[in-house]
Amino acid sequence: MVAGLGATAAAMQALGIAGIAHAQGWTPPPPGTGAGQSVIVLGAGIAGLVAA
Ligand SMILES: Cc1cc2nc3c(=O)[nH]c(=O)nc-3n(C[C@H](O)[C@H](O)[C@H](O)COP(=O)(O)OP(=O)(O)OC[C@H]3O[C@@H](n4cnc5c(N)ncnc54)[C@H](O)[C@@H]3O)c2cc1C
Repeated sequence: MVAGLGATAAAMQALGIAGIAHAQGWTPPPPGTGAGQSVIVLGAGIAGLVAA
């Protein structure tokens, strides 16, 4: 089952219908960015956990 998923993912990527997200080109914000700001993360799903 796991090998099947891997093969499916590889085939989808080869066909160009699925990509692997990566952070190339991302530059960290300069120091002090967000200072004095407050953020509420609502929801404990994967999106909320990553944002936190
Ligand atoms: C049966 C099933 C199987 C799946 N299998 C896979 C898989 O194998 N691989 C994969 O990559 N994806 C899978 N997914 C999809 C994956 O679960 C979702 O894409 C992912 O969880 C979305 O994350 P999210 O953080 O956006 O939302 P969620 O994970 O839904 O998180 C939202 C959070 O907000 C909370 N919330 C909602 N309303 C409020 C409120 N008013 N106040 C406070 N908190 C609140 C919820 O309780 C929850 O914790 C599956 C989904 C399902 C339903």
